Amino acid sequence: MDKQAAIKYLESRAQDFYKLSDKIWGNAEIRFKEKQSVNDYEAFLKQEGFEVTVGLAGLKTAFSATWGSGKPVIGFLGEYDALPGLSQKAGVAVKESLESEGNGHGCGHNLLGVGALMGAIGFKHYLEENGKSGTVVYFGCPAEEGGSGKTFMAREGCFNNLDAAFSWHPSDYNMMPPGPVLANDSIRYSFIGKASHAAAAPEAGRSALDALELMNVGVQFLREHIPSSARIHYAITDTGGISPNIVQAHASALYQIRAPFAPELEDLYKRLNNIAKGAALMTDTQVEIKFLKGTSNTLLIPALDEIMYKNMCEISNPIAEAKDLDFAYEIVKTQKSPDKLPENAFVLKPMPWNKAGNIPLPGSSDVGDVSWVCPTSQCGTSTWPVGTAPHSWQAVACGKSDFAHRGMLFAGQIIASTAIDVLNNPEVIAKAWEQLKEKTGGSPYHCPIPSEITPDILEAEIT
Ligand SMILES: [Zn+2]
Repeated sequence: MDKQAAIKYLESRAQDFYKLSDKIWGNAEIRFKEKQSVNDYEAFLKQEGFEVTVGLAGLKTAFSATWGSGKPVIGFLGEYDALPGLSQKAGVAVKESLESEGNGHGCGHNLLGVGALMGAIGFKHYLEENGKSGTVVYFGCPAEEGGSGKTFMAREGCFNNLDAAFSWHPSDYNMMPPGPVLANDSIRYSFIGKASHAAAAPEAGRSALDALELMNVGVQFLREHIPSSARIHYAITDTGGISPNIVQAHASALYQIRAPFAPELEDLYKRLNNIAKGAALMTDTQVEIKFLKGTSNTLLIPALDEIMYKNMCEISNPIAEAKDLDFAYEIVKTQKSPDKLPENAFVLKPMPWNKAGNIPLPGSSDVGDVSWVCPTSQCGTSTWPVGTAPHSWQAVACGKSDFAHRGMLFAGQIIASTAIDVLNNPEVIAKAWEQLKEKTGGSPYHCPIPSEITPDILEAEIT
Protein backbone atom coordinates (compact mmCIF):
# COMPACT_ATOMS: atom_id res chain seq x y z
CA MET A 1 0.00 0.00 0.00
CA ASP A 2 1.32 3.43 -0.88
CA LYS A 3 0.71 6.93 0.41
CA GLN A 4 -2.18 7.39 -2.01
CA ALA A 5 -4.04 4.51 -0.39
CA ALA A 6 -3.82 6.26 3.01
CA ILE A 7 -5.20 9.44 1.42
CA LYS A 8 -8.07 7.47 -0.13
CA TYR A 9 -8.69 5.62 3.13
CA LEU A 10 -9.25 8.90 5.00
CA GLU A 11 -11.60 10.04 2.26
CA SER A 12 -13.59 6.80 2.52
CA ARG A 13 -14.00 7.32 6.27
CA ALA A 14 -14.56 11.05 6.11
CA GLN A 15 -18.14 10.94 7.43
CA ASP A 16 -17.05 9.35 10.74
CA PHE A 17 -14.66 12.25 11.30
CA TYR A 18 -17.12 14.93 10.21
CA LYS A 19 -19.59 13.56 12.75
CA LEU A 20 -17.03 13.69 15.56
CA SER A 21 -16.01 17.25 14.66
CA ASP A 22 -19.66 18.36 14.64
CA LYS A 23 -20.17 16.78 18.04
CA ILE A 24 -17.19 18.68 19.47
CA TRP A 25 -18.56 21.88 17.87
CA GLY A 26 -21.81 21.22 19.77
CA ASN A 27 -20.02 20.61 23.08
CA ALA A 28 -18.27 24.00 22.82
CA GLU A 29 -16.42 23.59 26.12
CA ILE A 30 -13.91 26.23 27.20
CA ARG A 31 -10.41 25.80 28.67
CA PHE A 32 -10.01 23.21 31.43
CA LYS A 33 -13.69 22.17 31.10
CA GLU A 34 -13.52 19.99 27.97
CA LYS A 35 -14.88 16.89 29.72
CA GLN A 36 -17.49 15.78 27.20
CA SER A 37 -15.11 16.39 24.30
CA VAL A 38 -12.50 14.17 25.96
CA ASN A 39 -15.14 11.46 26.49
CA ASP A 40 -16.05 11.63 22.80
CA TYR A 41 -12.40 11.33 21.73
CA GLU A 42 -11.76 8.52 24.18
CA ALA A 43 -14.66 6.47 22.82
CA PHE A 44 -13.61 7.08 19.22
CA LEU A 45 -9.94 6.29 19.80
CA LYS A 46 -10.65 3.10 21.78
CA GLN A 47 -12.76 1.87 18.90
CA GLU A 48 -9.81 2.50 16.59
CA GLY A 49 -7.62 0.31 18.79
CA PHE A 50 -5.68 3.02 20.64
CA GLU A 51 -4.69 2.77 24.28
CA VAL A 52 -5.98 5.92 25.95
CA THR A 53 -4.70 7.62 29.11
CA VAL A 54 -6.87 10.49 30.35
CA GLY A 55 -5.34 13.08 32.68
CA LEU A 56 -1.78 14.28 32.02
CA ALA A 57 0.48 16.85 33.69
CA GLY A 58 -2.18 17.83 36.22
CA LEU A 59 -4.66 18.57 33.44
CA LYS A 60 -7.83 16.52 33.83
CA THR A 61 -8.83 17.11 30.21
CA ALA A 62 -5.51 16.21 28.60
CA PHE A 63 -4.97 12.74 27.22
CA SER A 64 -2.70 10.61 25.10
CA ALA A 65 -3.73 7.77 22.80
CA THR A 66 -1.08 5.35 21.64
CA TRP A 67 -1.00 2.67 18.97
CA GLY A 68 1.85 0.55 17.60
CA SER A 69 5.42 0.08 18.78
CA GLY A 70 9.00 0.93 17.98
CA LYS A 71 10.53 3.80 16.07
CA PRO A 72 9.72 6.32 14.83
CA VAL A 73 7.44 7.74 17.49
CA ILE A 74 5.27 10.36 15.83
CA GLY A 75 3.04 12.76 17.78
CA PHE A 76 -0.15 14.32 16.48
CA LEU A 77 -1.38 17.37 18.38
CA GLY A 78 -5.12 17.91 18.76
CA GLU A 79 -7.10 20.68 20.47
CA TYR A 80 -10.81 20.94 21.35
CA ASP A 81 -11.41 24.02 23.49
CA ALA A 82 -13.97 26.67 22.53
CA LEU A 83 -14.15 30.39 23.38
CA PRO A 84 -16.51 32.09 25.84
CA GLY A 85 -19.21 34.41 24.54
CA LEU A 86 -18.97 33.26 20.93
CA SER A 87 -22.12 31.15 20.71
CA GLN A 88 -23.38 31.29 17.13
CA LYS A 89 -25.74 29.32 14.91
CA ALA A 90 -24.11 27.20 12.26
CA GLY A 91 -24.68 27.71 8.54
CA VAL A 92 -26.12 31.24 8.70
CA ALA A 93 -24.36 34.37 7.46
CA VAL A 94 -25.75 36.64 10.19
CA LYS A 95 -24.66 37.05 13.77
CA GLU A 96 -27.19 35.04 15.75
CA SER A 97 -26.27 33.27 18.97
CA LEU A 98 -27.40 29.75 19.72
CA GLU A 99 -27.44 30.39 23.44
CA SER A 100 -26.99 33.84 24.99
CA GLU A 101 -23.61 34.17 26.73
CA GLY A 102 -22.77 30.67 25.44
CA ASN A 103 -19.47 29.39 24.11
CA GLY A 104 -18.51 28.84 20.50
CA HIS A 105 -15.73 27.24 18.45
CA GLY A 106 -14.37 30.55 17.20
CA CYS A 107 -10.88 29.19 16.58
CA GLY A 108 -12.09 26.04 14.82
CA HIS A 109 -10.56 23.68 17.38
CA ASN A 110 -13.38 21.20 16.71
CA LEU A 111 -11.81 20.88 13.25
CA LEU A 112 -8.22 21.11 14.50
CA GLY A 113 -8.50 18.18 16.90
CA VAL A 114 -10.26 15.91 14.42
CA GLY A 115 -8.01 16.89 11.49
CA ALA A 116 -4.95 15.93 13.55
CA LEU A 117 -6.75 12.71 14.50
CA MET A 118 -7.25 11.95 10.80
CA GLY A 119 -3.51 12.42 10.35
CA ALA A 120 -2.85 9.91 13.15
CA ILE A 121 -5.34 7.38 11.82
CA GLY A 122 -4.15 7.69 8.21
CA PHE A 123 -0.58 7.05 9.42
CA LYS A 124 -1.69 4.13 11.60
CA HIS A 125 -3.53 2.60 8.64
CA TYR A 126 -0.35 2.80 6.55
CA LEU A 127 1.77 1.17 9.27
CA GLU A 128 -0.81 -1.56 9.74
CA GLU A 129 -1.26 -2.35 6.05
CA ASN A 130 2.48 -2.44 5.40
CA GLY A 131 3.43 -4.25 8.61
CA LYS A 132 5.91 -1.50 9.46
CA SER A 133 7.17 -0.59 12.89
CA GLY A 134 6.27 2.80 14.32
CA THR A 135 4.34 4.36 17.19
CA VAL A 136 1.42 6.72 16.73
CA VAL A 137 0.66 9.03 19.66
CA TYR A 138 -2.33 11.32 19.47
CA PHE A 139 -2.23 14.03 22.13
CA GLY A 140 -5.46 15.59 23.35
CA CYS A 141 -4.24 19.06 24.34
CA PRO A 142 -6.75 21.12 26.32
CA ALA A 143 -6.91 24.83 27.12
CA GLU A 144 -4.99 26.23 24.16
CA GLU A 145 -6.97 29.45 24.55
CA GLY A 146 -5.45 31.15 27.57
CA GLY A 147 -4.61 27.99 29.50
CA SER A 148 -1.28 26.91 27.95
CA GLY A 149 -2.25 23.22 28.03
CA LYS A 150 0.69 22.05 25.92
CA THR A 151 3.12 24.14 27.96
CA PHE A 152 2.14 22.26 31.13
CA MET A 153 2.40 19.02 29.15
CA ALA A 154 5.85 19.98 27.85
CA ARG A 155 6.95 20.87 31.41
CA GLU A 156 6.02 17.35 32.56
CA GLY A 157 7.85 15.73 29.65
CA CYS A 158 4.79 14.46 27.74
CA PHE A 159 6.49 15.07 24.39
CA ASN A 160 10.00 13.91 25.32
CA ASN A 161 9.87 10.57 23.53
CA LEU A 162 8.72 11.91 20.18
CA ASP A 163 10.83 11.86 17.05
CA ALA A 164 8.59 14.48 15.45
CA ALA A 165 5.21 16.10 16.01
CA PHE A 166 2.61 17.35 13.54
CA SER A 167 -0.41 19.58 13.70
CA TRP A 168 -2.33 22.19 11.73
CA HIS A 169 -4.72 25.07 12.26
CA PRO A 170 -7.93 26.07 10.49
CA SER A 171 -7.30 29.11 8.33
CA ASP A 172 -8.60 31.10 5.37
CA TYR A 173 -5.62 30.05 3.22
CA ASN A 174 -3.68 26.88 2.53
CA MET A 175 -0.25 27.73 3.80
CA MET A 176 2.81 26.91 5.83
CA PRO A 177 3.58 29.45 8.57
CA PRO A 178 5.78 32.22 7.10
CA GLY A 179 7.54 32.60 10.44
CA PRO A 180 7.32 31.79 14.15
CA VAL A 181 4.50 32.80 16.44
CA LEU A 182 5.70 34.93 19.35
CA ALA A 183 6.62 33.77 22.83
CA ASN A 184 4.11 35.11 25.32
CA ASP A 185 4.10 35.65 29.11
CA SER A 186 1.23 36.75 31.39
CA ILE A 187 2.04 38.54 34.64
CA ARG A 188 -0.26 40.03 37.24
CA TYR A 189 0.91 43.21 39.05
CA SER A 190 -1.06 43.92 42.21
CA PHE A 191 -0.43 47.11 44.18
CA ILE A 192 -1.35 47.40 47.82
CA GLY A 193 -1.79 50.83 49.42
CA LYS A 194 -3.70 52.26 52.37
CA ALA A 195 -7.35 53.36 52.33
CA SER A 196 -8.25 56.73 53.75
CA HIS A 197 -10.83 59.49 53.40
CA ALA A 198 -9.68 61.28 50.28
CA ALA A 199 -10.68 64.72 51.59
CA ALA A 200 -10.51 64.44 55.38
CA ALA A 201 -7.23 62.52 55.66
CA PRO A 202 -5.52 62.31 52.27
CA GLU A 203 -2.09 62.30 53.92
CA ALA A 204 -2.91 58.99 55.59
CA GLY A 205 -3.76 57.30 52.30
CA ARG A 206 -1.42 55.53 49.88
CA SER A 207 -3.06 55.02 46.51
CA ALA A 208 -2.59 51.68 44.81
CA LEU A 209 -4.40 53.10 41.79
CA ASP A 210 -1.82 55.91 41.51
CA ALA A 211 0.90 53.29 41.54
CA LEU A 212 -0.81 51.29 38.82
CA GLU A 213 -1.27 54.40 36.67
CA LEU A 214 2.39 55.31 37.10
CA MET A 215 3.41 51.81 36.15
CA ASN A 216 1.31 51.99 32.99
CA VAL A 217 2.84 55.36 32.07
CA GLY A 218 6.30 53.96 32.69
CA VAL A 219 5.56 51.06 30.39
CA GLN A 220 4.37 53.42 27.62
CA PHE A 221 7.82 55.06 27.75
CA LEU A 222 9.48 51.65 27.71
CA ARG A 223 7.81 50.78 24.40
CA GLU A 224 10.24 52.99 22.47
CA HIS A 225 13.16 50.94 23.69
CA ILE A 226 12.15 47.34 23.07
CA PRO A 227 12.73 45.19 19.95
CA SER A 228 10.27 46.28 17.25
CA SER A 229 8.67 42.84 17.02
CA ALA A 230 8.07 42.63 20.79
CA ARG A 231 4.62 43.48 22.13
CA ILE A 232 3.24 44.65 25.51
CA HIS A 233 -0.48 44.69 26.32
CA TYR A 234 -2.34 45.17 29.55
CA ALA A 235 -5.79 45.14 31.10
CA ILE A 236 -6.63 46.82 34.40
CA THR A 237 -8.37 44.06 36.30
CA ASP A 238 -8.90 45.91 39.58
CA THR A 239 -9.23 49.69 39.87
CA GLY A 240 -9.55 49.60 43.64
CA GLY A 241 -13.24 50.39 43.84
CA ILE A 242 -15.77 52.89 42.55
CA SER A 243 -15.54 55.59 45.19
CA PRO A 244 -13.34 58.56 44.39
CA ASN A 245 -13.56 59.74 47.99
CA ILE A 246 -11.71 56.68 49.29
CA VAL A 247 -8.02 56.36 48.54
CA GLN A 248 -7.74 53.09 46.63
CA ALA A 249 -6.02 50.47 48.75
CA HIS A 250 -5.67 47.89 46.00
CA ALA A 251 -5.35 47.88 42.19
CA SER A 252 -4.01 45.39 39.69
CA ALA A 253 -3.31 44.84 36.04
CA LEU A 254 -2.70 41.77 33.93
CA TYR A 255 0.17 42.27 31.53
CA GLN A 256 1.06 40.20 28.48
CA ILE A 257 4.44 40.48 26.83
CA ARG A 258 5.47 38.89 23.54
CA ALA A 259 8.72 38.47 21.64
CA PRO A 260 9.94 36.35 18.69
CA PHE A 261 12.40 34.30 20.78
CA ALA A 262 11.50 33.05 24.28
CA PRO A 263 14.79 34.06 26.00
CA GLU A 264 14.19 37.71 24.92
CA LEU A 265 11.15 37.81 27.18
CA GLU A 266 13.25 37.40 30.29
CA ASP A 267 14.82 40.81 29.70
CA LEU A 268 11.45 42.42 29.02
CA TYR A 269 9.99 40.83 32.15
CA LYS A 270 12.82 42.22 34.31
CA ARG A 271 12.33 45.72 32.89
CA LEU A 272 8.60 45.58 33.56
CA ASN A 273 9.26 44.48 37.12
CA ASN A 274 11.61 47.43 37.64
CA ILE A 275 8.96 49.84 36.43
CA ALA A 276 6.41 48.26 38.80
CA LYS A 277 8.84 48.50 41.72
CA GLY A 278 9.61 52.12 40.77
CA ALA A 279 5.90 52.95 40.77
CA ALA A 280 5.52 51.36 44.19
CA LEU A 281 8.48 53.37 45.50
CA MET A 282 7.07 56.62 44.14
CA THR A 283 3.72 56.07 45.81
CA ASP A 284 4.89 54.37 49.00
CA THR A 285 2.85 51.29 48.18
CA GLN A 286 3.74 47.61 47.83
CA VAL A 287 3.68 45.58 44.65
CA GLU A 288 3.10 41.86 44.29
CA ILE A 289 4.32 40.35 41.06
CA LYS A 290 2.78 37.04 40.02
CA PHE A 291 4.05 35.34 36.89
CA LEU A 292 1.04 33.31 35.75
CA LYS A 293 1.91 31.58 32.52
CA GLY A 294 3.78 31.70 29.28
CA THR A 295 4.16 29.97 25.95
CA SER A 296 7.30 29.68 23.85
CA ASN A 297 7.74 30.87 20.28
CA THR A 298 7.50 28.21 17.57
CA LEU A 299 10.74 26.93 16.09
CA LEU A 300 10.19 26.15 12.42
CA ILE A 301 11.95 23.10 11.04
CA PRO A 302 12.50 23.49 7.28
CA ALA A 303 13.30 19.75 6.85
CA LEU A 304 9.74 18.91 7.94
CA ASP A 305 7.97 21.98 6.57
CA GLU A 306 9.33 21.26 3.10
CA ILE A 307 7.73 17.81 3.09
CA MET A 308 4.46 19.09 4.47
CA TYR A 309 4.34 21.84 1.88
CA LYS A 310 5.07 19.38 -0.92
CA ASN A 311 2.18 17.21 0.21
CA MET A 312 -0.08 20.25 0.41
CA CYS A 313 0.74 21.05 -3.22
CA GLU A 314 0.36 17.46 -4.45
CA ILE A 315 -2.85 16.32 -2.76
CA SER A 316 -5.97 17.50 -4.51
CA ASN A 317 -7.87 20.00 -2.40
CA PRO A 318 -11.44 18.75 -1.92
CA ILE A 319 -12.89 22.19 -1.06
CA ALA A 320 -13.67 22.88 -4.73
CA GLU A 321 -16.38 20.20 -4.49
CA ALA A 322 -18.10 21.61 -1.40
CA LYS A 323 -21.89 21.88 -1.64
CA ASP A 324 -22.20 25.12 0.28
CA LEU A 325 -19.87 27.50 -1.55
CA ASP A 326 -22.71 30.03 -1.89
CA PHE A 327 -22.96 30.21 1.90
CA ALA A 328 -19.18 30.65 2.03
CA TYR A 329 -19.49 33.66 -0.28
CA GLU A 330 -22.21 35.15 1.93
CA ILE A 331 -19.76 34.92 4.83
CA VAL A 332 -17.12 36.73 2.74
CA LYS A 333 -19.63 39.56 2.18
CA THR A 334 -20.03 40.08 5.93
CA GLN A 335 -16.32 40.85 6.24
CA LYS A 336 -15.25 42.66 3.08
CA SER A 337 -16.50 45.93 1.61
CA PRO A 338 -18.42 45.54 -1.70
CA ASP A 339 -15.55 47.02 -3.77
CA LYS A 340 -13.06 44.52 -2.33
CA LEU A 341 -14.97 41.28 -2.88
CA PRO A 342 -12.84 38.45 -4.24
CA GLU A 343 -13.99 36.36 -7.17
CA ASN A 344 -14.29 33.19 -5.08
CA ALA A 345 -14.73 32.40 -1.42
CA PHE A 346 -11.60 30.23 -1.45
CA VAL A 347 -8.11 30.32 -2.89
CA LEU A 348 -7.32 26.70 -3.61
CA LYS A 349 -3.66 27.04 -4.53
CA PRO A 350 -1.35 26.97 -1.50
CA MET A 351 0.45 30.22 -0.69
CA PRO A 352 4.14 30.09 -1.58
CA TRP A 353 6.25 28.66 1.24
CA ASN A 354 8.59 31.18 2.87
CA LYS A 355 11.51 28.84 3.37
CA ALA A 356 13.46 31.44 5.36
CA GLY A 357 10.69 31.42 8.01
CA ASN A 358 11.59 34.99 8.93
CA ILE A 359 8.21 36.73 9.05
CA PRO A 360 6.95 36.48 12.67
CA LEU A 361 3.24 36.02 13.16
CA PRO A 362 1.87 38.35 15.81
CA GLY A 363 -0.09 35.71 17.77
CA SER A 364 1.09 33.05 20.21
CA SER A 365 0.38 29.35 20.67
CA ASP A 366 1.36 26.62 23.07
CA VAL A 367 2.48 24.53 20.07
CA GLY A 368 5.61 26.66 20.55
CA ASP A 369 6.53 24.66 23.64
CA VAL A 370 6.22 21.36 21.80
CA SER A 371 8.44 22.76 19.05
CA TRP A 372 11.23 23.42 21.58
CA VAL A 373 11.11 19.80 22.75
CA CYS A 374 10.93 17.93 19.43
CA PRO A 375 10.91 18.88 15.73
CA THR A 376 7.38 20.07 14.96
CA SER A 377 5.64 21.05 11.78
CA GLN A 378 2.16 22.42 11.19
CA CYS A 379 0.22 23.87 8.30
CA GLY A 380 -2.95 25.86 7.84
CA THR A 381 -5.69 24.80 5.48
CA SER A 382 -8.63 26.86 4.32
CA THR A 383 -11.61 25.77 6.33
CA TRP A 384 -12.90 29.37 6.36
CA PRO A 385 -13.63 31.70 3.42
CA VAL A 386 -10.93 34.30 2.67
CA GLY A 387 -10.88 37.17 5.11
CA THR A 388 -12.45 35.22 7.99
CA ALA A 389 -10.82 36.21 11.25
CA PRO A 390 -10.30 33.59 13.94
CA HIS A 391 -12.25 34.24 17.15
CA SER A 392 -15.19 35.64 15.17
CA TRP A 393 -18.84 34.61 14.91
CA GLN A 394 -18.19 33.91 11.23
CA ALA A 395 -15.63 31.24 12.15
CA VAL A 396 -18.18 29.60 14.46
CA ALA A 397 -20.92 29.79 11.79
CA CYS A 398 -18.63 27.96 9.34
CA GLY A 399 -17.59 25.24 11.82
CA LYS A 400 -19.98 22.52 10.66
CA SER A 401 -20.14 23.42 6.97
CA ASP A 402 -19.28 21.10 4.13
CA PHE A 403 -16.35 23.30 3.11
CA ALA A 404 -14.94 23.26 6.66
CA HIS A 405 -15.20 19.47 6.75
CA ARG A 406 -13.36 19.21 3.47
CA GLY A 407 -10.66 21.63 4.55
CA MET A 408 -10.21 19.43 7.63
CA LEU A 409 -10.00 16.28 5.47
CA PHE A 410 -7.33 18.04 3.40
CA ALA A 411 -5.34 18.80 6.56
CA GLY A 412 -5.65 15.19 7.76
CA GLN A 413 -4.42 13.89 4.42
CA ILE A 414 -1.46 16.30 4.41
CA ILE A 415 -0.45 15.32 7.95
CA ALA A 416 -0.79 11.55 7.34
CA SER A 417 1.24 11.84 4.11
CA THR A 418 3.95 13.87 5.83
CA ALA A 419 4.25 11.30 8.64
CA ILE A 420 4.48 8.51 6.02
CA ASP A 421 7.23 10.38 4.14
CA VAL A 422 9.17 10.87 7.37
CA LEU A 423 8.81 7.17 8.18
CA ASN A 424 10.16 6.17 4.78
CA ASN A 425 13.04 8.67 4.88
CA PRO A 426 14.58 8.33 8.34
CA GLU A 427 17.39 10.74 7.43
CA VAL A 428 14.77 13.52 7.58
CA ILE A 429 14.34 13.00 11.32
CA ALA A 430 18.10 13.27 11.89
CA LYS A 431 18.19 16.46 9.85
CA ALA A 432 15.16 17.86 11.69
CA TRP A 433 16.87 17.33 15.05
CA GLU A 434 20.01 19.06 13.78
CA GLN A 435 17.90 22.02 12.67
CA LEU A 436 16.16 22.11 16.05
CA LYS A 437 19.52 22.28 17.81
CA GLU A 438 20.60 25.14 15.56
CA LYS A 439 17.40 27.06 16.24
CA THR A 440 17.61 26.80 20.02
CA GLY A 441 21.27 27.76 19.90
CA GLY A 442 21.90 24.69 22.02
CA SER A 443 19.96 26.07 24.99
CA PRO A 444 17.71 23.45 26.58
CA TYR A 445 13.96 23.92 26.75
CA HIS A 446 13.06 26.23 29.59
CA CYS A 447 9.39 26.03 30.50
CA PRO A 448 8.03 29.56 30.83
CA ILE A 449 5.51 28.56 33.51
CA PRO A 450 7.07 28.63 36.99
CA SER A 451 7.00 25.28 38.74
CA GLU A 452 4.70 26.54 41.53
CA ILE A 453 1.93 27.35 39.04
CA THR A 454 -0.25 24.29 38.45
CA PRO A 455 -3.17 24.10 36.01
CA ASP A 456 -5.58 24.40 38.98
CA ILE A 457 -3.90 27.57 40.23
CA LEU A 458 -3.89 29.07 36.76
CA GLU A 459 -7.55 28.22 36.24
CA ALA A 460 -8.44 29.91 39.54
CA GLU A 461 -6.39 33.00 38.61
CA ILE A 462 -7.88 33.51 35.16
CA THR A 463 -11.54 32.79 35.83
ZN1 LIG B 1 -6.60 28.29 17.65
